[in-house]
Amino acid sequence: MKTAKIDLHLHLDGSLNVYWMYEMSKKRGVIKNEMTFEEYYQQIYCTAYKTMEEAFKMFDRPIDVMQHKEDIAQTVFDLVRELNDKGMIYAEIRFAPQQHMKCGLTQYEVVEAAVSGLNRAKEAYPLMAAQLICCMMHKGENALVNMKENFETIEVTKEFLGKGVCALDLAGYENNGDFKLYAPLFEKAREYGIPYTIHAGEMGMGVHVVEAIEMGASRIGHGVNCVQNPEWLNEVVKAQIPLEVCVTSNCGKERNYALHPIRELLNAGVKVTVNTDNMMFSRTDLHVEHAMLRSIGVSEEQLKQCTLNAVDAAFCDEETKKKLRERLMQEWN
Ligand SMILES: [Zn+2]
Repeated sequence: MKTAKIDLHLHLDGSLNVYWMYEMSKKRGVIKNEMTFEEYYQQIYCTAYKTMEEAFKMFDRPIDVMQHKEDIAQTVFDLVRELNDKGMIYAEIRFAPQQHMKCGLTQYEVVEAAVSGLNRAKEAYPLMAAQLICCMMHKGENALVNMKENFETIEVTKEFLGKGVCALDLAGYENNGDFKLYAPLFEKAREYGIPYTIHAGEMGMGVHVVEAIEMGASRIGHGVNCVQNPEWLNEVVKAQIPLEVCVTSNCGKERNYALHPIRELLNAGVKVTVNTDNMMFSRTDLHVEHAMLRSIGVSEEQLKQCTLNAVDAAFCDEETKKKLRERLMQEWN
């Protein structure tokens, strides 16, 4: 079985082990001791939400147990171990430092803790290459409400760039407001020479994808809504900007894979990469994603191309890319 795969879009908080979260929630006093695991599990996988904004509130659960240095380090270590167990060869794991300050940590301390977990995992699992992406946050209605925290994320990313952290991102609840309000953040990132990807055209309008390209993104998180308008799709094809597509995550609770635009994107000549987004919330991994894509007619050749696209698009050095290509070729031939 071919297992070597690459995940470029993987949220740490959406990919924890549920049982670990349950145990840790009790230990940290986030839930009552009497709560059973079954009750906790039902809450985590509750599908009674009506809006995406409501669904987003589910991320409070893992965030609640990632407020102490040792816990943050542990989550990174555990995720790299799990990826290694699955035969993955490279991943970029993302998280938003500003979400982990509820117990007094600074963004610097949060990233420091994550990097320590990553370093420990690298020693234990040398065949699994992993790096971290620091996310700035969309907070829904008002883009300016957390500008200070977002600028702070850029400063901290600069400190850790090349030392475990490889890039910046803008994540969170993508509203339909003025996306360009975020442009000053990316001007700063460019000034510091920090590469970045931007969540755009996931649940917000497809025109955000074009705006993210204009804001200098190297990759687009999701970007699938660019199919809403042939002009936007054309811009994405023309720019050959890699899209970090996460099919199960986009399909939501209905899981109607056939309605997902990935085949349209592939046929149009978009540089598609296949990713998981949230392994825990979506109850998936990259092997499952590939299996689902095969089931809707995506060919083996296309899956290969998506994997090679991911190597090209990775925020790592050429030496690492060369090794990744060699390992992929070993399995494929
Ligand atoms: Zn995402």
